[in-house]
Amino acid sequence: MIILRDTYKHQGLRKLLVETLRSDRSDRIPIMDKRILEVIGKVPRHFFLAPEFSEFAYRDQAFQIGCGQTISQPYTVAFQTQLLDVRPREKILEIGTGSGYQAAILLELGAKVFTIERQRELFDKADELLHKMNYDLKMLFGDGYRGWPVYAPFHKIIITCGAPEVPEALYEQLRPGGIMVVPVGEGDTQEMKRVIKLRNGERYEQNFGLFRFVPMLKDKV
Ligand code: SAH
Repeated sequence: MIILRDTYKHQGLRKLLVETLRSDRSDRIPIMDKRILEVIGKVPRHFFLAPEFSEFAYRDQAFQIGCGQTISQPYTVAFQTQLLDVRPREKILEIGTGSGYQAAILLELGAKVFTIERQRELFDKADELLHKMNYDLKMLFGDGYRGWPVYAPFHKIIITCGAPEVPEALYEQLRPGGIMVVPVGEGDTQEMKRVIKLRNGERYEQNFGLFRFVPMLKDKV
């Protein structure tokens, strides 16, 4: 049974986290999107960590969530979400549900969320938590490399694990005009890429610097 309690202390820590994300620093671009800062200030990130680690929930760092996986650093969640340029009612496919936190952020922004996870234990935990928080979304236990063809095409696709290259099957499931945000690279760090499927059929790629993700694994479900 999950007990959900959001105290004034948690709310205060969330406000400080939002200030960190928007603050000027020499080493990264501040998060400026007001809607994203607002939903990060709203969603209790500590619900997505084991209760004994609650105190780590509002530090701007990645954290273990079991099965050798991590909940992404809040800055990374905000940055990827900003690159995705989410509009209400858009269909967004997420690869790597993990804790479910990124999915909750997309849902709070009004998107229709479809999310895929390949680790059974994490899938079940996120499924229970997100439904308990009254979110309405579609979740699939399976291999993200295949995408989710029955619900394609998607306006946006966000990959929250490091992919060896831009997964072609997923690119095909993007609408014309659609955007994919994907960290690409097999080493310790990945280049954050935004891939846009232009309406004229061309592909446009932009790079946004190095980030650190757990790997996107193949065919091990
Ligand atoms: N978005 C998550 C981040 C989780 S870390 C959050 O907000 O917490 C990345 C996740 O991707 C891990 O849970 C890992 O199991 C999952 N993953 C790795 N390879 C995958 C694949 N091929 N298909 C689906 N999920 C995958």
